[in-house]
Amino acid sequence: MIPADRAQRILELLAQEGSVRVADLSQRLGVSAMTIHRDLDELEQRGQLRKVRGGAVPVVPAGGDEERCLVCGMRPRRRHQVLLRFADGSERRACCPHCGLLAIAHNYRQISNALVTDFLYERPIGARQATYVVAPQVSICCSPTVLAFEQRSDAERFQAGFGGRVETIEGAMRFLEAMTRVDLR
Ligand SMILES: [Zn+2]
Ligand SMILES: [Zn+2]
Repeated sequence: MIPADRAQRILELLAQEGSVRVADLSQRLGVSAMTIHRDLDELEQRGQLRKVRGGAVPVVPAGGDEERCLVCGMRPRRRHQVLLRFADGSERRACCPHCGLLAIAHNYRQISNALVTDFLYERPIGARQATYVVAPQVSICCSPTVLAFEQRSDAERFQAGFGGRVETIEGAMRFLEAMTRVDLR
């Protein structure tokens, strides 16, 4: 496990500088290049950065906020956006899990990786590991609302307050497909 303070320092440098290099991190943090490589592997697995040759870049490209949802055309917001990576290496965003899961359900352009955003903590999490609340009594982004949570207990607490159903990704996709017609662009 990577120590939390080193992980945080790496992510801060990444946010400040737009990219980080292994050699530079190794010098600044006083650990070996091998250790930095392992740190970056772990952070990549957590969905917090993307490794590139000799370093890493942020998962969400800087300044990408004007990019529109690939399903509905709305502007994605950080709190509930979904990042989709395709087999050809390109990336697009969906505004919320409603649109993101529809894209996954229809296997739009061979999605190789999908990250949803934890609604409470604004952290990216693997779409398949997340727990979803579908159709709560609050309307957030697309209708019916679908929100993602890293912890099932958080999803259950949200449901206790705002209603809806707690679902796995499969359950949420079945619900959406039954409710919605989709027109991918
Ligand atoms: Zn959308
Ligand atoms: Zn949406």
